[in-house]
Amino acid sequence: MVKFLDLQKITAKYANEVHEAVSRVINSGWYLQGEENKRFEENYSKYVGTKYTVGCANGLDALIWIFRAYIELGIMKPGDEVIVPANTYIASILAITENRLKPILVEPNIQTYQIDDTKIEGVITERTKAILIVHLYGQCAYTEKIGTLCKQYNLKLIEDNAQAHGCIFNNCKTGALGDVAAHSFYPGKNLGALGDAGAVTTNDELLAKTIRTLANYGSSKKYVFQYTGRNSRLDEIQAAVLNVKLKYLDEDIKIRKQIAKYYIENITNQQVITPSINDWDSHVFHLFPIRCKQRDKLQEYLLENRIQTIIHYPIPPHKQECYIEWNDLSLPITEQIHNEELSLPISPVMNEEEYHYIVNIINEWKL
Ligand SMILES: *Cc1c(COP(=O)(O)O)cnc(C)c1O
Repeated sequence: MVKFLDLQKITAKYANEVHEAVSRVINSGWYLQGEENKRFEENYSKYVGTKYTVGCANGLDALIWIFRAYIELGIMKPGDEVIVPANTYIASILAITENRLKPILVEPNIQTYQIDDTKIEGVITERTKAILIVHLYGQCAYTEKIGTLCKQYNLKLIEDNAQAHGCIFNNCKTGALGDVAAHSFYPGKNLGALGDAGAVTTNDELLAKTIRTLANYGSSKKYVFQYTGRNSRLDEIQAAVLNVKLKYLDEDIKIRKQIAKYYIENITNQQVITPSINDWDSHVFHLFPIRCKQRDKLQEYLLENRIQTIIHYPIPPHKQECYIEWNDLSLPITEQIHNEELSLPISPVMNEEEYHYIVNIINEWKL
């Protein structure tokens, strides 16, 4: 079986260093808000190119804290609107509604699967306070046009960088392109912990401090509470693991790109659409999404041939039960992507034999 993602093999690649790092934390007797966290925040800031990193419990919390902090700072208030791509993972939307802000769903571009920047200006209103771009599948969603719109209309530019650590736009990493960014280190992400973990990056000192306080019970001084916060901290063991894995992230991305390049150059089956890439720096291939009209049949065929694939995502946010009020919205491009998308296995531990096999099997497929 070619697994969609072999996490055991990924962890095994760094086993010695990870064991050493985890043992160091265990033996230190210090498990939260310590040296590992501090070191990770410094390392990650350096990597992304921002002044501040604030570690937190997971990627969803990172997103939630960004909006909450803007509300606490008086920059946003409940009822304000946030522009967001309609075809994102639901976490991006949950963070907006959790803060009683209003998501304005914008269709993606069918070539890039990223928010269609020609459809943004038309939905900006008096209440619009931010654009939340999502670097979906590991591809940069930022465009000059989005940057210009944010300046012109005085909107915050927020990045959901959960899928795109290490991605580069014009010499600038994603996570440093806007005002603030959320990162997830869920185990399956390109930079993954051995459990849940997340972070916020920004150059805004006050925002960073507010988020750090919110994620620590709303307290920056022991037993003094400024906000009704929550417990959402990055623990020392996860920070230690991330310190190890961050060193190898660029190497891992290089391998992902080699596999993606092989897929793009060699998948010739006319039923299958591979991603169109014009800048190889600006895609880190967290996923390798293909599109196919007969997607479910293809997935079944691949599984018969012992190839695991996953759909990202089968149901768009506006069709979910939790957002029943949007179920009748018409978002045809989003729906098309959700109906046709299939992610092929891609990871830094796949071998040549595996991805050559996948290409052969796909090319042999006939309806
Ligand atoms: C994974 C992911 C998140 C949430 O991260 P968690 O760490 O799982 O909470 C948010 N946005 C996107 C686009 C993601 O892929």
